[in-house]
Amino acid sequence: MITTTPETSTAASARGLTKTYGTGPAAVHALDGIDVDLAPGRFTAIMGPSGSGKSTLMHCLAGLDRPSAGMVHVAGIALQDLGDDELTRFRRDHLGFVFQAFNLLPMLTARQNIMLPLELAGRRTDDATARRLEQVVDVLGLADRLSHRPAELSGGQQQRVAIARALVGDAAIVFADEPTGNLDSTTSAEVLSYLRRTVRELGRTVVMVTHELDAAAYADDVVVLADGRVRTHLTAPDGAELVAALQADPTTEVAR
Ligand code: ADP
Repeated sequence: MITTTPETSTAASARGLTKTYGTGPAAVHALDGIDVDLAPGRFTAIMGPSGSGKSTLMHCLAGLDRPSAGMVHVAGIALQDLGDDELTRFRRDHLGFVFQAFNLLPMLTARQNIMLPLELAGRRTDDATARRLEQVVDVLGLADRLSHRPAELSGGQQQRVAIARALVGDAAIVFADEPTGNLDSTTSAEVLSYLRRTVRELGRTVVMVTHELDAAAYADDVVVLADGRVRTHLTAPDGAELVAALQADPTTEVAR
């Protein structure tokens, strides 16, 4: 059964989110009671050192994995109330994903790659979709690349096609997991600027997992994790606040 939450002011929220791998002395508490609210229309980065729980949190928020305990609401839907098939449909219809690997099909043009998920879902290209395609392609600077195949595009352009693919279906949230992990620093900066433009100019909601301070600096809000907990949740931090929050990380203190 699908239940909705009255909260409409968050794009995604988690309460008491816990994920434990293994049992007994070998148990790993990847998430240790996370409460977080992610705002709509903003670019949020989930940051923290390796092993702090970033990927696990994203996977639980995006319905890619089930938590051991706790609640997740995304776009007003309680994910814990969905069966496996409903969860798959929810992801397909309401979420977009961008990964480190661009995952484009080499035989298809950029335009065909962008439209493929909608076609696989059997959705007709109505006027709203056509308008969204035009807007997304325009904001991502891909208008003159739509007939190119992935091999004819640079790495940054390929990732922008993957971002367009995640956005064109009107997803409530686009989750990006280390989206610049395969790119050099100049190209990373370019892709992050484009990602930020989709939030600012199209009002979209993007949640990005990253371990790079440089990448998090493009976000509006930053959730810093440490040992499976939220260490701090910064709204529109400046560079100094971001660095201070990360230096407060106990693992950094140990290293000093
Ligand atoms: P991050 O993304 O911040 O690097 P992860 O969410 O991948 O952190 O992992 C958090 C913790 O959970 C780590 O200690 C990791 O080793 C552990 N972990 C993640 N996935 C699994 C798994 N499938 N089985 C066992 N332990 C896991």
